[in-house]
Amino acid sequence: MRCQDFTAHATELMEGALDWRQRLAMRLHLAICDACRGFLRQMRDAVSLVGIVPPPPPPPEVEAEVLRRLSDAGPAP
Ligand SMILES: [Zn+2]
Repeated sequence: MRCQDFTAHATELMEGALDWRQRLAMRLHLAICDACRGFLRQMRDAVSLVGIVPPPPPPPEVEAEVLRRLSDAGPAP
């Protein structure tokens, strides 16, 4: 495995989408390659910063209340 192969499959590795043979090849490469260890760490950091799950939308009653208050307030001066 080369670094190009590793980076091409790094996302799948993190998602657990690879079979055991591919995971083993990735792990063997990580064991010998500092550059790809750094790459994987950066990807993990990026994922934890961005977050995988988007925040939930507000419940409909909250949205309705906000809209009602906005219309009660009338047009901006
Ligand atoms: Zn590498």
